Amino acid sequence: MRYLKYIQKDSVDIKRKQMEENNLTPFADAPDTAVITCCHVTDDRAPILYVSHDEDDGMWQFLCGGEHSDDDAKIVSLRYIYELDHSIGQLKDMRCGCYAERESPAGEWTVTDSEQNI
Ligand SMILES: [Zn+2]
Repeated sequence: MRYLKYIQKDSVDIKRKQMEENNLTPFADAPDTAVITCCHVTDDRAPILYVSHDEDDGMWQFLCGGEHSDDDAKIVSLRYIYELDHSIGQLKDMRCGCYAERESPAGEWTVTDSEQNI
């Protein structure tokens, strides 16, 4: 009986731990979801000024808003990006096929549905 109690307690702890991990970011995606950013954000600490949620594969991109070549792309976790800049949490509900831009880190995000531009 006591043994059973221990097992139940452990599974509750595991469940709680999983919930805490899910709360590391406000996004529905798991904290360890791979996202694309650029070397300017990771290496130069440039502010994130452009975010897109790709239509075809649901991939998030968090970029500095400048010009990019393929060499500038970096793969990091969603949690890493969120910890760099909590204000991206405002975009957690942005649908696939949309992108958001802002003028400065303190500015408001402007979300655009890319389908409407076609
Ligand atoms: Zn960049």
